[in-house]
Amino acid sequence: SVPLTYFGGIGAASRAGILVKGGNYLDALARLDTVVWDKTGTLTQGRFTVSSVAAADGVDAGDVLRLAAHAEAHSAHPIAAAVREAYGRPVDAGIVDDYAEIAGHGVRARIDGRVVLAGNARLLAAEGIPVPPGDDGASTVVHVAADGAWLGRIAVADQAKPTAGQAVERLRTLGVSRQVMLSGDDHRVAEAVGRSLGLDEVRANLLPEEKVAAVEEIDAARRTAGRTGALAFVGDGINDAPVLARADVGVAMGALGTDAAIEAADVVIMDDDPAKLATGVSVGRRTRQIVH
Ligand code: ADP
Ligand code: MG
Repeated sequence: SVPLTYFGGIGAASRAGILVKGGNYLDALARLDTVVWDKTGTLTQGRFTVSSVAAADGVDAGDVLRLAAHAEAHSAHPIAAAVREAYGRPVDAGIVDDYAEIAGHGVRARIDGRVVLAGNARLLAAEGIPVPPGDDGASTVVHVAADGAWLGRIAVADQAKPTAGQAVERLRTLGVSRQVMLSGDDHRVAEAVGRSLGLDEVRANLLPEEKVAAVEEIDAARRTAGRTGALAFVGDGINDAPVLARADVGVAMGALGTDAAIEAADVVIMDDDPAKLATGVSVGRRTRQIVH
């Protein structure tokens, strides 16, 4: 049975906005050695804004945005919300047919009879549609194509959460020896965020299932190195349930998180502040001192 004092620790965590689903997870937080962070919505705000729209020769940029907004009409991805907002007019869901969302890639839909794609370079490559080179800097790009032809690119950007850097720093001070960021986003975008926040390692361009494999690899490497503390994965929940389940401690962001993620998580950070993970470690350690 769980020692009574664990309930005290769980209560203290919950007053700090951290829901811990059992004394064993509080204990694991106290022994935290490795933190694997998801990028979008976890270390970054998960609220994108459109910074530019560029169209192919002979194509109207307004039309690129209109087609993309309609293709994204039914998507819950934060990129979709940014595209619809930049379009600025109500989307006519009546002209959208055969909608499909392809995880880690983007969306496909039939709009006014044309097959429209909106998503990353991987999506267009999978459909055999060549994308002209362009300097997108450290922006995430949504390419738009119709009936097999590239029509243009929409650059979107997200920002780090104000406490993300502190979260990484506090955990390092508490003795967490490795912090890795995983992302389905482009390498340049992920590297820029990772560098600014002081992470030890960044792995980008990952499909949801590749995030599970990455956590398994990071876990195996640290065991080989003789590090026996606990590994946490922290995610916002969109497609993250399998990764949350794989970690010693799966941590979900509560406000943005999906029901599936909150269910799959061992710990839920109610206000989405990544620095609360360090608070959880401190509460876990105080509880451990009392219990042991
Ligand atoms: P992460 O949460 O790590 O950013 P996702 O798996 O949600 O990763 O998405 C990975 C990438 O797939 C995004 O950066 C984007 O390029 C593309 N993508 C996914 N969903 C959409 C969408 N609805 N519209 C456009 N692009 C998308
Ligand atoms: Mg995600």
